[in-house]
Amino acid sequence: MRVMVVTRRKRPMPVDLLTVPLLGRFLRWRHARTTLQVPLLLLSLLLLDDGFFGPQLAPENLAGVLPWVQWRGFLILGLLIVGNLFCMSCPFMLPRRLAKKLLPANRTWPRMLRLKWLATGVLVIFFYAYEAFSLWASPLLTAWVALAYFVAAFVIDGFFQGAAFCKYVCPIGQFNFVNSLASPFEIKVRQPDVCARCTTKDCIHGRYAEAAPIRRPSPIDLQTRTQVPDGKSQRDPGTGRRLIQNGCELGLFQERKVGNLDCTFCLDCIHACPHDNVGILARVPTSELWDDPRRSSVGRLGERTDLAALALVLVCATFLNAFGMVAPVYAVEQWLAGLLGTTSEALILLVIFGVGFGALPLAAWASRTLAGSREPFLAVATRSSYALVPVGFGMWLAHYSFHFLTGALTIVPVAQSFLAGLGLPGLGAPRWGLGPLVPASWLLPIELVFLEAGLFGSWLVAYRISRRARADGTGALPASLPWALLAAALAGFGVWLLLQPTEMRGTFIGGG
Ligand code: SF4
Ligand code: SF4
Repeated sequence: MRVMVVTRRKRPMPVDLLTVPLLGRFLRWRHARTTLQVPLLLLSLLLLDDGFFGPQLAPENLAGVLPWVQWRGFLILGLLIVGNLFCMSCPFMLPRRLAKKLLPANRTWPRMLRLKWLATGVLVIFFYAYEAFSLWASPLLTAWVALAYFVAAFVIDGFFQGAAFCKYVCPIGQFNFVNSLASPFEIKVRQPDVCARCTTKDCIHGRYAEAAPIRRPSPIDLQTRTQVPDGKSQRDPGTGRRLIQNGCELGLFQERKVGNLDCTFCLDCIHACPHDNVGILARVPTSELWDDPRRSSVGRLGERTDLAALALVLVCATFLNAFGMVAPVYAVEQWLAGLLGTTSEALILLVIFGVGFGALPLAAWASRTLAGSREPFLAVATRSSYALVPVGFGMWLAHYSFHFLTGALTIVPVAQSFLAGLGLPGLGAPRWGLGPLVPASWLLPIELVFLEAGLFGSWLVAYRISRRARADGTGALPASLPWALLAAALAGFGVWLLLQPTEMRGTFIGGG
């Protein structure tokens, strides 16, 4: 009798950015993050100066172009190509680091605020204010928003432990966390068995001048960070030993971390791990949405109504934001003004936002009914809402890349004008005609590719979520159909939006 020996093939290690020549060396360097943050901090200071004291015509002002054209483009392309690169190089972190030295930084973040509701509310207010006060057209208001950011990060992290601002408040961070679910890289352990043998768990506790005591982090540690050293003294409250490298300030314990949620790509865990066991590993984009294991400091996505609401707000916001830029929005506003008998733009926008943000929960209810499910509405809606993240990401990509590709070079004349205003005309006379990066005929095909790729991702995730929810796997396709149709309807709306004449914000082309 022949005996067949079945050998399990070892999975090849995924691509790890830390092993790429030069790039990997740079990222492992202790000061890599600071090196990225300093130029952005300097640019932010120039933005504040020009926003408060420069010309108030947006296309001529650093505060009118840098955040709304170049920065948004880099942010979204970074998410597409790698992951959460903006948080990695975030300029707000430098004053925050100073706050940790100057202020006590010893309070625990209130338990009732340890969900995403606060950040979701801040995001809704921001998107509303963006339209209601035309933030992109006002360098002064843009400068105030940037200043408010610096102050909020300084105060919150100056009084609270860990990275409370990033995790629970920062709207840019939440935007990055949700959209990085579709990114192709994540910070992850290379060899799980090395973690199983690791006794110090420095990736979460931080590294001390001497080896840390053997102690596994308790769930309380991971949630509240109460036993980590306070930011000011940088000493372990139990042993008094000096901290030489932070562990994860967002409470993500590498051994049980899954995916990109709440990860700021700060690299602290990479520097802290004494076994060089954390990498920046490639993966299939959106794959972390296919399964729903319990994630460190996050829990299960299907049980996090607040996270699902955050994801839905971002999906709605991308379509509302794009709708606010096309010509038909004015006809809708006029029609609503007549219907409501008001001329208040704020009120009209409130109605448009109410309808926009209310449409998806309604659709969730309809899809559950169509799927014939008896599960509670909230459970189905919470679990399935994440299926819309890829199509939302596709629309953000289409929208922000449009502004970037049509206006990236506006930074040249604005910088020339800014320096001339300081009495430094070395860059020559401003060349106001500069702007586009690619011919106009390329724009629509590029935008459509992004949007359709997002739609395909949503179909895939909707199917995988439905399959996961059914023990025997049967009926997954019909159950996912309503969500697939909803994603297709959103993408169809997106295509219609992309075909409309658009305001060229931050450029001279077309005004606006
Ligand atoms: S990532 Fe490093 S420090 Fe953290 S558990 Fe694994 S081996 Fe230990
Ligand atoms: S320390 Fe935490 S937030 Fe920073 S890269 Fe590691 S897992 Fe992400």
